[in-house]
This record gives sequence, C-alpha cells and structure tokens, in this order.
Amino acid sequence: MNNKELLARRNKALPQGAATALPVFVEKAVGSEIWDVEGTHYVDFASGIAVNNTGNLHPKVVDAIEKQLKQYAHIGFPVLSCEPYVRLCERLNDLAPIKDAKSTLFTTGAEATENAVKVARYYTSRQGIITFTGSFHGRTQLALAMTGKVQPLRTGVTPSQAGVYQVPFPIPHHGTSESDSLRALDHLFRATIAPDQVAAIVIEPVQGEGGFYQASPVFMRELREICTRHSICLIVDEVQSGFGRTGKFFAVEHSGVQPDLIAIGKAMGGGLPLSGLIGRSDVIDAPPPGFLGGTFAGNPLACAAANAVLDIIEEERLLDRAEQVGKRISAFLHDLKGTPGVLPLGDIRGLGAMVAFEIVAQLGTHTPDAEATKRVAARAKELGLLLLPCGYYGNTIRISAALNISDDVLETGLSRLASALKA
Ligand code: PMP
Repeated sequence: MNNKELLARRNKALPQGAATALPVFVEKAVGSEIWDVEGTHYVDFASGIAVNNTGNLHPKVVDAIEKQLKQYAHIGFPVLSCEPYVRLCERLNDLAPIKDAKSTLFTTGAEATENAVKVARYYTSRQGIITFTGSFHGRTQLALAMTGKVQPLRTGVTPSQAGVYQVPFPIPHHGTSESDSLRALDHLFRATIAPDQVAAIVIEPVQGEGGFYQASPVFMRELREICTRHSICLIVDEVQSGFGRTGKFFAVEHSGVQPDLIAIGKAMGGGLPLSGLIGRSDVIDAPPPGFLGGTFAGNPLACAAANAVLDIIEEERLLDRAEQVGKRISAFLHDLKGTPGVLPLGDIRGLGAMVAFEIVAQLGTHTPDAEATKRVAARAKELGLLLLPCGYYGNTIRISAALNISDDVLETGLSRLASALKA
C-alpha cells in the first residue's frame, strides 16, 4: 500500500484530533534516516519530537531490549521490583544537579509533570502553581492547564484548574523582556495569589513546543532566588530539553541553578515510552507509599533501553557531539540568512543541538510568518527532510537531529533544508 491509500484508511479509522504532521507512513528507520512505504528516503531532523537523541534502533538499545525481553517484559512496579529500574534511578540521581536526589519513573511526559506538581503540593501543603505562556507540559487535564498555548491544545476544553496561573515567558525580541516577566510575577503575587500559597513555579529551561526559547541563566537564577525566598518549589520540565539535547545532560545546568524537582521523558527511553521525576530527597520523599506510580510506570524494557541510552551518551561523548552538531547547524543557518533567493529568516538560536530559527515577513524584522513556515515544512518533506515547526507564533522551525547523526547525513539534511528555504 502507498502513503495515499494508507492515509485514506487512517482518516477513516482515526479521529481528526489524533493528527500527524506529515502524510508519511514509515517502513524503516535506522539512525537518522527513515524510509517510507514507497521507498522515499528522509533525513530525520524531527527525531520523533526530540526522542531519538541516540538515533533510531541504536544497536546497544536493541541489544539491551532483546536481553531484557528474554527475562521478563512486565512486572508492574507497584507489585514487584526489578533491578534495571533501580539502576536507572541511581544513575539519574548521580547525574541530576540536585544534592541528595531520589527518582521515580512513569510512562509519559505529562505524567512526569503532573506528578511533579502533586509532589510539590503535598510537600508545601499549598495549591498554587505558576507556569509560563508558550509552555508545553502535556495533554492531560492538569498538564494542559499548565500549558501556555491555546490552539490547538486548550481550545474548547476549559482546562483551567483551580490554582494554576501563567506569567509571560521572556522573549525579548517579541517584546517581553526578563524584567517584564518578573514584574508580571510580582503583580501575580500582589493581585492574585500570595507567594505563601504557591507550591511551585514550573519552567522549561528551554521551551520545546513553545519555540526553543531559552530562559537565560540570569532569569533562572532570579526564579531560584524567588522560590527560595518564598519556600516555593522550583520545578524544571526537561522532558524535551534533557538527556544531552543542549550539550549538558540537563539544560538547567547551563544556569548553575539547583531545581527542587526535574521532570524528564522523551529521549530517556531510547524510543520506548518512559518518563521520570527526580527530586530533592526531602521533597520527593514527603508523600506516603503508593502516592507515586502507575501500572506501566518504569516498564522493564524501557528501563533497560534507558540504561543503554545513558551508556551511549557517555561512551559516544554525545554531550560534546551535541555542541558540534548545534554549532554546525547554527553556522549553516547564519550563512543562509540574507542570501538572495532565500526566505527571510529571523532570529536563529540554539543551545547545544536544540537549534531553531524563525521565518519572518521581512528580513530585519521579527514579524512572524506562520504560513510560510508551514510551507517550508511541507516542501522539506517533498525534498526528503523531516522538519517540525513549532512556536508560540507558529513561525519557528526546530531542528532536533539525533545527537549522534553522522556528518554525511547531517550535511545531506542541511542541503535539503537550504532547498526548502528557497523563496
Ligand atoms: N513537557 C514538555 C517540555 C514536552 O515537550 C512534552 C511533549 N512534547 C511534554 C511535557 C509531554 O510529554 P508526553 O507527550 O510524553 O506526555
């Protein structure tokens, strides 16, 4: 069957809400390359939304899953324990920029962020949660209430949950400075909820879906100071920015800030569904037995894969490689910007291999052109390149290439990107 026939079956069987960005049915994926059912070759700059940091089917991940599969696939961690889960938590505790950390595992990113909030509420005996505009914390009801984007996420479902408030995320070139954000937080404390009623401030150190906007180290330190002053938990959502993506294991490490809780997911399972919560032990250890968990939480196959992912990041020096990949992509985009015959590019930004650029109405401005951005992603697909647009203004293209992408495949992807960006 070809893509068109499969698409017709898909559209008949699935609700439109379960959308897919590109009308491509995958036959095979290895490393950073994908082939569809028609044999078309794609370079993968999407990585299944920042999941395949170590590429698709890394031999070590495959090997670890196969080995685990010969022992047991599911035990239910609320019923029985297994060593790969414990080993993974021990390793995460050592990696986290938190003194005296403990960890626990879940399945999806939304569960990780919601459990972070539950723990913070339990620990502080407070209800208030402050998040940022443009943020993405998941599609379940509380995670959605925390998420700062209306279309298509919050439309028609009244996601507001008691006690969840948002302040503007600082994006200076779109008119919100860091002091504007801090002033909004101060207004919130004075007008809406007293700081002693706030359990947590939740922030992505680099927003993922929101457009790869970075909260500067200065801003992160300011939030840390505010949280400490008012005994508020600082939760960092590293579901997208973690696992080496930014050139450090956690993006928050770029600021030197120690958060109280870190939500993780996506890349950790090497392609299998796995997420987790790391916390300062007095915070995460506060809730009673049975408060945390889930039927599939910390699935043994996913834990085995995650332990392999940690080995690969270390053995292949992927934090360094993330820096190199990011530098190459950024340099390429800066060279392209302003070249005659190329669409007008706006801000180009990146932290490690978390690189993005904006498409604007006119060179030298920051006026978003969301339509042109959609067209670029569609044209890239025709040229054999998988790209994901994102962003609060819909005009950002993010590049989440695997951290271990080879130079050859990276260059092929970049040359297809240049063609997709022709005016
Ligand atoms: N937090 C962040 C920062 C994310 O990017 C995402 C997913 N894009 C989530 C949470 C939710 O993760 P999941 O889709 O696995 O529930």
